[in-house]
Amino acid sequence: MPTYVELGNDELAALKDRLEREHAEIKARGLSLNMARGKPAKAQLDLSMPLLETITTLEDCVSTDGTDCRNYGVVDGLPEAKALMASMLDDDPENVIVCGNASLNIMYDALARCWSFGTLGSTPWSKLETVRWICPVPGYDRHFGVTEAFGIEMIPVPMTDEGPDMGEVESIAAFDENVKGIWCVPKYSNPGGITYSDEVVRRLASMVCAADDFRIFWDNAYCVHHLFDDAAEQDQLLDIGHACVEAGNPDRYFKFASTSKVTFPGAGISALAASPANVVEIKKRMGVQTIGHDKLNQLRHVRFLKDAEGLAAHMAKHAAILRPKFELVNRKLEESLADVGGCSWSKPRGGYFVSFDAPESTAKRIVALAKEAGVTMTGAGATFPLKQDPRDSNIRIAPTLPPLEELDEAMDVFACCVKLAYAEHLLARRQA
Ligand code: PMP
Repeated sequence: MPTYVELGNDELAALKDRLEREHAEIKARGLSLNMARGKPAKAQLDLSMPLLETITTLEDCVSTDGTDCRNYGVVDGLPEAKALMASMLDDDPENVIVCGNASLNIMYDALARCWSFGTLGSTPWSKLETVRWICPVPGYDRHFGVTEAFGIEMIPVPMTDEGPDMGEVESIAAFDENVKGIWCVPKYSNPGGITYSDEVVRRLASMVCAADDFRIFWDNAYCVHHLFDDAAEQDQLLDIGHACVEAGNPDRYFKFASTSKVTFPGAGISALAASPANVVEIKKRMGVQTIGHDKLNQLRHVRFLKDAEGLAAHMAKHAAILRPKFELVNRKLEESLADVGGCSWSKPRGGYFVSFDAPESTAKRIVALAKEAGVTMTGAGATFPLKQDPRDSNIRIAPTLPPLEELDEAMDVFACCVKLAYAEHLLARRQA
């Protein structure tokens, strides 16, 4: 079959008419399907219901060191919660601070601390004329929302199959002392599903930075979120902490993780890990902000997940629910778009998303057509700073929330919209 660019004008016009009819038929069905946000499905949430039963008596409220967790205190987290989160953060419990219900919150706070107070003696970033930030793209929209909220100038850097394009990252960091940080989702990235190679991790740790207080915001949101049980099919990530110590830049990173997509998003626990010097500073400032986070929830999580092994066993149950969804998305895209041309998409081994690259200049139109047909997608452009995708091409597919049957239907609608938008675009270009 010829691809769309190879079709003659008449063939393409006939195809567009057919796709328009198909789209109108779908619209008439009055669907309401959602592939917009990376939320766990109900079946995944159900997996964690026993967590709610781990504290029912007075004795259940006491931690291993005898703390009555119903009361105030313990700003940096219970020892057993630190140990559990250390296994996610690939660090030692003493470098971990266990926080509240969301890691986005602690990333915002980490930035806000540097903004208001500087870090380890540096000038507060708010005092600088301009602050710049490296943003690997496509990336996580809420990261970009945080840097945007502080008025930080975001510099997009393309992702490769091994992480951000390090040649670009290095040249930006080396020559501009106002470049203070980088967003990284180093494992099963949002949205590309890419895991940073050892070389990329080492280069981030060792690169020359004009700013002494440059910080890598290492958001390991998908650290245990494999789609396959066999270790050979799971991505491995080098620890940024060790790499930074080895490179002689021990304070360069802040690591973040949470149980949002392990247990209950919004009702999980989050944590950060950092160098001893950073941990001292963060604890000092955090102690002004709060007397302590929710220790009962820390206990529930430890009792339910137990340790790294328990966590892995629980995540395997998630994977069993998610794997067929990712397989379905890939199969549907292959079946429906193979002979269209101009489209590519990721085939991740973990995480929550498929990154879809549509023919240039069609992403906004595809998402609008899908919306009309009753399928909500993540907004086109959302994966770029200020929502500006210069190629208008990237669309994030979030297949986790809908049940399989709905996902199947939603992917048919999506494919129809991709084809229609592409046919429209090619015809308009030829007529111009
Ligand atoms: N980081 C990334 C990369 C994410 O994809 C998400 C959720 N979509 C979060 C952070 C949010 O995590 P939390 O619920 O811990 O704030």
